[in-house]
Amino acid sequence: MSGIRVGQGFDVHRIVAGRPLVLCGRTLSSEIGLDGHSDADVALHAVTDAVLGAVGCGDIGEHFPPTDTRWKDADSSVFLDHALTLARERGFAPVQCDLTFVGDRPKIAPFRNQLRSGLASSLGIDPSAANIKATTTEGLGWTGRGEGLACMAVVLMEAVAVHD
Ligand code: MG
Repeated sequence: MSGIRVGQGFDVHRIVAGRPLVLCGRTLSSEIGLDGHSDADVALHAVTDAVLGAVGCGDIGEHFPPTDTRWKDADSSVFLDHALTLARERGFAPVQCDLTFVGDRPKIAPFRNQLRSGLASSLGIDPSAANIKATTTEGLGWTGRGEGLACMAVVLMEAVAVHD
């Protein structure tokens, strides 16, 4: 079996007023937030799916059904930590992540440093290996109308020694 694995994840949450904006595990200063059953951290949800994908463990909805009241307003780092534990049990740990937000709002640029450090600490990787990108859709579609924020993640994982 190869010593490296790659996984990709994608998620979308609706933009609403009156909810906090939580991205990459950081609560950001914003007039708008994201709606969802959990804290709606669209970035950590995409990263969690990427980790699960890299080690062949399905998707976030299988492990944490949105119908389960235990995950109401949950801190999404719980989901990612679970995925990282599953990966470690299979002998893999993350080494790099590349994240792309897609949407016209909120603007990501002012939060880039906070997001990078949040992503790095959530995954336990060096900030230089945690990249944040953002793009608009030029006003087109639901992202262009500012109705939702999407996030895509790619996570590279390396084989590590498994200790009992
Ligand atoms: Mg989600």
